[in-house]
Amino acid sequence: MLNIVLFGPPGAGKGTQSEKIIEKYNLQHISTGDLFRKHLSEGTELGKMAQKYMDEGNLVPDEVVIGMVDDKIKETGPVNGFIFDGFPRTVHQAEALDILLNEKNMPIKGMIALEVDEEELKKRILLRGKTSGRADDQDVAKIENRIKVYQAETLPVAEYYRKQDKYEAIHGIGSIDEIFGKISDVIDKLK
Ligand code: ADP
Repeated sequence: MLNIVLFGPPGAGKGTQSEKIIEKYNLQHISTGDLFRKHLSEGTELGKMAQKYMDEGNLVPDEVVIGMVDDKIKETGPVNGFIFDGFPRTVHQAEALDILLNEKNMPIKGMIALEVDEEELKKRILLRGKTSGRADDQDVAKIENRIKVYQAETLPVAEYYRKQDKYEAIHGIGSIDEIFGKISDVIDKLK
């Protein structure tokens, strides 16, 4: 099974590249941000609970996220593999994901990290905010908080996978196809 973590700061292009990856490699996409937004739009209890964290650009508590991912994996039928997007976002989430996948004998093959500098991230997110309708994409203070939370809580996750020899960094600036080409080269080696 080809299980991959797509990693990077908010605005790095994880969603865009995920779409291309799932199509080419026939993988199941699990984006925790998308799952939370779905809960929000459906007005579920989980969505209501997550909203206050999301609106401020803070992380939703680990146990909530882990439970949601576990449910999503369980309800998915047979697949070639999963692409995790926006998850794990803390070392605790990464440890929980390892336990969950090892139980099922389908460990993470590798992490692909998109690297983009902070100025470019802010520009991209504000541009996306014009059409995404996302409250967290439209306010510079919230965007800066998301980047700060990423640096403090999420960056250590890269080290977690580096220690397992599963880390590959990719320069995330260039055309979408150019970046996808580099991602494909990494995935072809993991297969
Ligand atoms: P982005 O990567 O652009 O910041 P996402 O769509 O991945 O946006 O996530 C939006 C929001 O959803 C985050 O700011 C956070 O509040 C919440 N969220 C998403 N994934 C996680 C996660 N794995 N752990 C905690 N909170 C999460």
